[in-house]
Amino acid sequence: MPVTLLCPNLRCRAILQVPDACRGKKVRCGQCGITLSVPTAGGQTPPAENRGQSIKAESSEAEKP
Ligand SMILES: [Zn+2]
Repeated sequence: MPVTLLCPNLRCRAILQVPDACRGKKVRCGQCGITLSVPTAGGQTPPAENRGQSIKAESSEAEKP
């Protein structure tokens, strides 16, 4: 799953997609040539689906007598 980054250069602000293997490394923006580091933690999108499943499980248990 590729990592989507926003170029920190305010004059560029290009959206970069780098492969997951580039986490923790530095990549170069193809438009302005600035070097930016790829964050290692992939917590940008929280697992909302898992939370929904847990809530459903709790409600189903509550419905049981
Ligand atoms: Zn750039």
